[in-house]
Amino acid sequence: DQLFLQFQPCIDAAGLHTTGVEALVRWRHPERGLIPPDRFIPIADESGLIVDIGEWVLRQACHQAKAWHDQGYDDLTISVNVSAVQFAQPRLLDVVNRALADSGLRPQALTLEITESVVMHDAETAVGMLRALKHMGVKLSIDDFGTGYSSLSYLKRFPIDILKIDKSFVRTLGVNEEDTAIVHAIMALAKSLRLTTIAEGVESEMQMKLLQKEQCDRFQGFHFSRPVDSEILTERLAREQLGRQARLH
Ligand code: C2E
Ligand code: MG
Ligand code: MG
Repeated sequence: DQLFLQFQPCIDAAGLHTTGVEALVRWRHPERGLIPPDRFIPIADESGLIVDIGEWVLRQACHQAKAWHDQGYDDLTISVNVSAVQFAQPRLLDVVNRALADSGLRPQALTLEITESVVMHDAETAVGMLRALKHMGVKLSIDDFGTGYSSLSYLKRFPIDILKIDKSFVRTLGVNEEDTAIVHAIMALAKSLRLTTIAEGVESEMQMKLLQKEQCDRFQGFHFSRPVDSEILTERLAREQLGRQARLH
């Protein structure tokens, strides 16, 4: 029972309200304290333990999302990260199916995030897996976009819904001309492929403004919220809803 999930809101660029959350796993070790996923996910991938961890994360995330839907926040989407090893296993389809069935969450509310390098590594196999997942009704997102090597012809063939622009480009947005140009190019590419864009790692008002100018669809980052426990996120949703009701009256 040392693993737990935190949730980071994903913010609509126009209305600046929470449209979804990303589930992020954490490990609270009794002696070593909090261990970030960057440290243990690669090791879990190597040892194969990721299969069980990943399934646990998915089930927890679906149950939490369903609980939020039942509390009235029924448009909220939940994103779950899928590792390289998980994605390579045909069994992933069963795992996703069962997590949805057992929680009662509708497939459209679940987004699976797969990093660019994982899908591009063996793109032919990836197309098959992505299509099968898509067929179940879940949404698909390419994580850390721009950091790996992408074949544009594959990008066109993948049945994906969302591109997440990696935070390394967002960090120097407006400061570094090259990164600003890359963000501009990714936005143009995503638009022409009719993909939703999410900017990761938005930490400042200036970055947010520049991304709004680029017509980025959604934001995630410390400027809005760090990843937080489910109770804190529930409070945020309630606050936003009160705000909306106040504006209506
Ligand atoms: P990711 O999926 O790209 O998640 C975004 C990471 O950026 C998270 O780090 C988040 O806390 C961090 N972040 C969010 N906003 C900001 C910001 O404004 N500035 C900065 N500097 N960072 C920000 P986290 O939680 O440490 O996760 C790191 C990576 O570990 C994730 O990257 C993901 O690849 C992996 N990961 C996390 N949870 C899971 C999981 O349940 N399963 C798998 N397979 N991988 C996971
Ligand atoms: Mg992610
Ligand atoms: Mg990312």
